Amino acid sequence: MAVWIIEENCTGCGLCAKACPYGAMVIEDKLARVTDRCTECGACLAACKFEALASDIEQEPIPDLSGYKGVWVFAETQEGKLLPVSRELMGEGGRLAAELGQDLCAVLVGSGLEPLADELASLGAKKVFLADDPRLAAYATLAFTRVLADMIQAHAPAVLLMGATPLGRDLAPRLSRRLDLGLTADCTQLGIDKETGNLLQTRPAFGGNVMATIYTPRVRPQMATVRPGVMAPPQARAGAQAEVIKQEVKLLDSDLLLKLMSFTPLASQGVDISQAKTIVAGGRGCRSREGFGLLAELAQEMGAELAGTRVAVEEGWIGVERQIGQTGVTVRPELYIACGISGAIQHRAGILGSRFIVAINRDANAPVFSVADYAIVGDVFKVVPAMLAALKEAR
Ligand SMILES: Cc1cc2nc3c(=O)[nH]c(=O)nc-3n(C[C@H](O)[C@H](O)[C@H](O)COP(=O)(O)OP(=O)(O)OC[C@H]3O[C@@H](n4cnc5c(N)ncnc54)[C@H](O)[C@@H]3O)c2cc1C
Repeated sequence: MAVWIIEENCTGCGLCAKACPYGAMVIEDKLARVTDRCTECGACLAACKFEALASDIEQEPIPDLSGYKGVWVFAETQEGKLLPVSRELMGEGGRLAAELGQDLCAVLVGSGLEPLADELASLGAKKVFLADDPRLAAYATLAFTRVLADMIQAHAPAVLLMGATPLGRDLAPRLSRRLDLGLTADCTQLGIDKETGNLLQTRPAFGGNVMATIYTPRVRPQMATVRPGVMAPPQARAGAQAEVIKQEVKLLDSDLLLKLMSFTPLASQGVDISQAKTIVAGGRGCRSREGFGLLAELAQEMGAELAGTRVAVEEGWIGVERQIGQTGVTVRPELYIACGISGAIQHRAGILGSRFIVAINRDANAPVFSVADYAIVGDVFKVVPAMLAALKEAR
């Protein structure tokens, strides 16, 4: 048994049982007992205030990782252009690189992408690692994994960031497994631990009810994906130059099992609210499709996109592509108007990047007001028509 109880010190206070994430500690007859669910994580040892727990768990020493340097951003492209999320990650990556005192680097994998190096330099890249090969023209999991794994092994970066796009969600886990790394998906915040230099990767956990900060002290690179729209893109600096480092592409036949026969873009889903500058969003408080009609009128008057909560989607008042939040889209508009939305944490997670939040709710204690710049306590069906009338008059 790697953890045991020193009975004379144990008060049966239950701190260890509370701290154990696996439910492996139980209190019986005012004494703690370790059950066979124990994974030897050590959480109970840190929690006990009475020196009532002992252990022979040996902490593995942290390897010397000082040779790993640089914050890498996987620059995802589509039809030869950078995706907005790649720009957003360059902004965040630049901030992290500055904190670490290391270089921000971009990684381009594809065919004919060298012209994008200048754009990446203007977004802050000091180096651009380029794998250019006609066999990489279309995304294929195994081929991209091979190329990125080779690049990482050759250049040993400290951090690798990717967009949580369909491609990123496919490639990042495959790569992390190939190199035996960790991966934190869908981060909403990134930072650097000042003492250790570890990347702090924050994301919603347990159904969005807590924000968990995860770090990876024993392996490099530290890998994280970030959903589009969460981070702000940097100001481009015209004329900046980056060193372009070309990677020799070595692919095995077994990496080329997938052949792209044709490419048919999905029929347009109509909207991409992640890029909207003004959003009028509604929740259960709008009551019906007709209620959303009123919001649509306001949105049209303001040149805004219409959006809503998960409840509004489930009720069929708006399409799923317009859902904002943890399981919907993350938005960063200049102005976000929340109408009849309570502001549950899962919804708030998607709107925190908004510049101004205006909330209309008849409940003065609604959580949405905790993040609102302007709080209007009132009935949506009175406030929105008044806004419409004022807008029309102003026009
Ligand atoms: C794992 C998980 C993921 C989730 N992901 C998301 C997500 O991505 N996005 C999301 O939105 N939700 C998500 N949810 C659901 C979330 O928890 C909430 O249930 C949801 O956001 C609530 O939507 P709402 O604000 O429309 O409804 P409610 O919480 O019911 O709030 C309605 C609000 O309207 C107000 N109101 C009522 N009538 C009026 C009126 N006439 N005038 C003014 N105000 C009025 C009420 O005071 C209330 O505050 C998720 C939940 C889970 C568990």
